Amino acid sequence: MSQSPTAFVDRDGVINRKRPEGEYVNSRDEFEPLPGSIEALAALSRAGYIIVVVTNQQGIAKGVTDRSFVDALHIELVDSVAAAGGTIDQVQVCPHLAGTCECRKPAVGLFEQARARDPRIDFARSAVIGDSQSDIEAALRIGARPVLVTAEAGSTLRTDGVTEVADLAAAAAMLTEVASV
Ligand SMILES: [Mg+2]
Ligand SMILES: [Zn+2]
Repeated sequence: MSQSPTAFVDRDGVINRKRPEGEYVNSRDEFEPLPGSIEALAALSRAGYIIVVVTNQQGIAKGVTDRSFVDALHIELVDSVAAAGGTIDQVQVCPHLAGTCECRKPAVGLFEQARARDPRIDFARSAVIGDSQSDIEAALRIGARPVLVTAEAGSTLRTDGVTEVADLAAAAAMLTEVASV
């Protein structure tokens, strides 16, 4: 089976607007896709990327976020990207409290679970797109390319190898450009 490039994409702050610190997406209304994010996921998919959403959701363990709601929301997300002409291959969720598991980013359990399910995934040919230091740290641990979504960014490569982009659309544009070279 041939290897494919994979885009591991954080959810909150990358695909949808991040809730205020300490608050979680607990209703459909609180899930607000950022401009262009659904189309960017579809574009990455059409360019040949395996798309894996990787998200820490400790609100589930705290009892403030309902797991079945989270799963239903992710089915809707998968459907939205499908309607835009792309495929989300997997959604990997860490529902645990910080410090209690091997999968909450920056730990790499979600990434390993994804690879166990799909042997086409090659960490060395992957990018991790996230808005937190924990996403960047996870990327470095698995040897993937770290891409930081930040409001302050141009599309710039820092000296530590982290690429800063303004949003997921910019990340997708950069990664599909690289893939086509
Ligand atoms: Mg985030
Ligand atoms: Zn976990």
